[in-house]
Amino acid sequence: MPELPEVETVRRGLAPVMEGARFRKVEARRRDLRWPLGRNFVQRLQGQSVTGLGRRAKYLLADLSSGDVLLMHLGMSGSFHVFQGDADRTLARYYHERAPHAAHDHVVFHMSSGAVVTFNDPRRFGSMKIVPRKNLDAEPLLKRLGPEPLGNEFDATMLARACEGKRTTLKAALIDQRVVAGLGNIYVCEALYRARLSPKRIAATIGGKDGGPNERAERLVEAIKAVLNEAIKDGGSTLRDHRLTDGELGMFQHHFRVYDREGEKCGAAGCRGTIKRIVQNGRSTFYCPVCQK
Ligand SMILES: [Zn+2]
Repeated sequence: MPELPEVETVRRGLAPVMEGARFRKVEARRRDLRWPLGRNFVQRLQGQSVTGLGRRAKYLLADLSSGDVLLMHLGMSGSFHVFQGDADRTLARYYHERAPHAAHDHVVFHMSSGAVVTFNDPRRFGSMKIVPRKNLDAEPLLKRLGPEPLGNEFDATMLARACEGKRTTLKAALIDQRVVAGLGNIYVCEALYRARLSPKRIAATIGGKDGGPNERAERLVEAIKAVLNEAIKDGGSTLRDHRLTDGELGMFQHHFRVYDREGEKCGAAGCRGTIKRIVQNGRSTFYCPVCQK
């Protein structure tokens, strides 16, 4: 499932063909995505220009000249493809192979830039929704999201506050989108590994009795930002390398240090541990029981 860095990579890939361009024609071939496309989905897009393409957590937000915002979420298996002339660029190919034919191209944007942008999603957990910008703060999909981990306001104090009194594990706390937005299973594992914190540790222990951050919170915030920034950088080089081909993008290019490395030697300096896999809240956690405390 795509996490923040993959969505950011997709945003950077779409921005050049969508920003400043108009939806010349929109096809909603299949309306029953995670939830149905709105009744006037096509009408509210056609003829409008995209004034900016942003991101909040794992949502892409296209600002439209009409004052609406188009929210897009990749779900489990969604991907965008950009066709421009005979150049075909695939954005965000994750665990699932791209559908071999167009049967899963559910939404197609014909942009005035000449680009055709298709949204392909075999499992249909992805979604699109149009919301007036003035109602965005009240939008249920976004309202309860925690801070952006790469935003300046996200720091050890904020994270410790969010974990104050939490008796759940650190793993569960970081997956919770209300604590911090955009992280999923993979980057939580990677961040905890770099911060040398056990995924089984009680969340509240990154703060003191007063709820203020301790040194663990400082380490964790630093690790979260580093892991995400590196992955976004990898995504950027992937976009450059595969501009004109149907290459593998997104996660395949990242180098995970613990994720999916069960049984391998821990790579941390001086550590002789072996990466272990456990199941927490129904999801696999990979960590080093020796250096993650
Ligand atoms: Zn280790």
